Amino acid sequence: MGKNLSKKEVKEVLMILEELYPHAKAELNFSNPFELLIATILSAQCTDVRVNKVTEKLFRKYKTPEDYLKLTEEELGEKIRSCGFYNNKSKNILGTCEMLVKEYDGKVPDTREELMKLPGVGRKTANVVLSNAFFKEAIAVDTHVFRVSNRIGLSNSSNVLDTEKDLMGNIEKNMWSKAHHLLIFHGRRICKARKPLCEKCPLDSYCIYYKENVQ
Ligand code: SF4
Repeated sequence: MGKNLSKKEVKEVLMILEELYPHAKAELNFSNPFELLIATILSAQCTDVRVNKVTEKLFRKYKTPEDYLKLTEEELGEKIRSCGFYNNKSKNILGTCEMLVKEYDGKVPDTREELMKLPGVGRKTANVVLSNAFFKEAIAVDTHVFRVSNRIGLSNSSNVLDTEKDLMGNIEKNMWSKAHHLLIFHGRRICKARKPLCEKCPLDSYCIYYKENVQ
């Protein structure tokens, strides 16, 4: 059997992370739900820094789904090439824009079910859009949230869906979005994938990974 921290410990862990990262927030740049949706599709297997560079130019010229639909798949692919998997991402973005125009009057829907019908939009992307653009409580589990929360003991599961359920059960609802950003910040800066910097981490006295593998 694996281990989970108690709810009290989870609260304490989040308080420590809040002190460590008082400015934790989305690192993708956007100014409306549509821009966040496009940026999040582009961010698969790519860094936020790279996506921000690409969208800085892209968003200046292309502001609505209709604008994107004037481009061919190849033309859009060229503009987003440096984000990687550009053929697929271009196809998904244009498919998403087409659906937004046809079924949602050009607006981004604000429910998970509807968002997940859009091409290239999985549960994680839907949760990112819900929490960051619509301020709805959701926990998007990306690679950092998955790794860090299972190392610390905020979750004890081997897949992202169960991790999301564990986190929703262990963390108070009004902290879901915040916790998502805190865990990403921690994963990028200290609890890195290959070599976590445990010697710099203030969570060592809570962390189950630390107790089992480092201490
Ligand atoms: S103690 Fe190490 S494994 Fe645990 S959260 Fe900190 S960096 Fe990650």
